[in-house]
Amino acid sequence: MTNEELLPCPFCGNTVLHVSRFYYLTGPAYYKVVCQTNGCGAAGPETTPESNAIAKWNARADIPALLDEIERLRMELAAVESNVFDVRN
Ligand SMILES: [Zn+2]
Repeated sequence: MTNEELLPCPFCGNTVLHVSRFYYLTGPAYYKVVCQTNGCGAAGPETTPESNAIAKWNARADIPALLDEIERLRMELAAVESNVFDVRN
């Protein structure tokens, strides 16, 4: 597995990642991406096949869009609070 296919760890930024294969006592093998930074412990969801583990690891929230939404909600809250203040006075 080449790391070019995997986005960096969202928690520590590490690019040294490994797609690990695991087995339960019964049943087929499953895969998950595991961050190799000591103490990070980040891992993707358990899934099959291996390519799905990579796709799920690389699926990320759109952080800039979420920050924009937080700012929009803050402004909306401020407007509501302003109206509540006006009603009381
Ligand atoms: Zn990490």
